[in-house]
Amino acid sequence: MTSAASSSPQAGAIGASLSNMLDEVEAQFTLSKDKLLELTHHFSELYTYGLGVKGADMPMIPSFVTGLPDGKEKGTFLAMDLGGTNLRVCEVKLKGDHTFEIRQQKYRVSDALKKGPVADLFEYMAESVERFLNEFGTETDAGEDELLMGFTFSFPVEQTTIDRGALLFWTKGFNCPDAPGKDVVQLLQNALDKKHIKVRVNALVNDTVGTLLTRSYQTGGAILGAIFGTGTNGAYLESIERIKKIKVSSQGQAGPTHMVINTEWGSFDNARTVLPTTQFDNFVDRTALRQRHHLFEKMISGMYLGEVARAVIIYLIDNLVLFSGFSSATLNTQYGLDTAYMSMIEADIDNGNPTSGSNGTREVLTQKLGLRAEHVSDVDVETVRRIVRFVGTRAARLSATAVAGTLIHTGNIQDDGTGKQVNVGVDGSLAELYPHFEERMRIALRDIVGEDAEKRVKFGLAKDGSGVGAALGAAAAKKQRTAGHRVEAN
Ligand code: ADP
Ligand code: MG
Repeated sequence: MTSAASSSPQAGAIGASLSNMLDEVEAQFTLSKDKLLELTHHFSELYTYGLGVKGADMPMIPSFVTGLPDGKEKGTFLAMDLGGTNLRVCEVKLKGDHTFEIRQQKYRVSDALKKGPVADLFEYMAESVERFLNEFGTETDAGEDELLMGFTFSFPVEQTTIDRGALLFWTKGFNCPDAPGKDVVQLLQNALDKKHIKVRVNALVNDTVGTLLTRSYQTGGAILGAIFGTGTNGAYLESIERIKKIKVSSQGQAGPTHMVINTEWGSFDNARTVLPTTQFDNFVDRTALRQRHHLFEKMISGMYLGEVARAVIIYLIDNLVLFSGFSSATLNTQYGLDTAYMSMIEADIDNGNPTSGSNGTREVLTQKLGLRAEHVSDVDVETVRRIVRFVGTRAARLSATAVAGTLIHTGNIQDDGTGKQVNVGVDGSLAELYPHFEERMRIALRDIVGEDAEKRVKFGLAKDGSGVGAALGAAAAKKQRTAGHRVEAN
């Protein structure tokens, strides 16, 4: 055993038990090709199931967005984005040539607002719009008589038209108790009206739907929008015929043929029939806001990934094989290990820093997590790096099953002979900043769908997807209205 604990008479035994334990934990986090295929297959099943049944665990929510932009859309729109770490107000100018200009401002949402009466939260949102308009002076385009706003609301909503939707339940740490069941567009419009702010909210767009719309606008066509940020989710374009659980009526000439579906894949396999749940996932779940809920998301996304790593670290500390059995106040705190720290540690590995001496991992452990330097041995540094890598790798490989499931469901695995590129828009800090996320996802994708299909998939960052997506949603709603289409579920 090469170990910093080699001065201890029991070093051999300790080293061996650490190594055995780590091997055993890593094995639980390792997903074989067969497991990936099983998960992907289950994705296809749950897609079809959720399209047929209302209230499925993985809800497959119709968005009432009935087509994808091609890049020629034009106009100035406002966007409100709630559901991430910050609330954002944006002004988006779509230029009609695949490009846009965006000006935006972030506003902090306090914990009290996240969990208090919903009216307070929406009043704060209206106030933020007011502050934004005062600062940026957004005006309507020439010839337009109203300023339209798209609302990105990244929580599960039961939509009945493009501008109406009731909150099903909160996720990601929000929990205003009187909100579920209420129409969130109406809540926002009322709050704006109360302050005499001349803005009309005409589209409700999930951030995932927004990501799909944005990537389509940028490239001329995308098949999937996927979020890997605080949470994880995906949206794709579905044929209306296959959305058996709703009957769509449309006034106007030829009705629409397709509709974007917000899968809410964070809820994939809440029943845990195929998800390889470890004791560490149970640790994360037990103290989360909602148990046995969004289990897939809890293995993947930014809000939870650090918490999974923390669970493993605490386990090893409690077994006295890490940091000589010492923890820290931060490490003992729920969500104390931010996923961003994992990114730093992955970057440190990439830099090829040795485990001894000063390195990025040691810095995170002592400066960010508050461990005492004398409790962090070289072996501990190596151990933490290994944990981060297998937790991060599992997240990427699980993400690949969602992407592959969508490719299969939409018939995009088979090359149509043209070798055409399949565009997937992604957004979120994990996708953007977590080292090797795409590369690891690709390796898994290759395992699932084969190299030919994997190579045709082009991941592209739909940065600002939720802001631009809301604007594109507002543009789509305006178009539906102009065409005399009122697309409704009945
Ligand atoms: P949202 O999904 O809320 O719109 P983001 O996409 O910015 O926002 O995701 C925020 C989440 O990403 C947080 O959970 C945060 O811990 C995590 N995060 C922030 N920076 C990084 C990073 N560098 N690497 C990995 N995760 C990060
Ligand atoms: Mg976001």
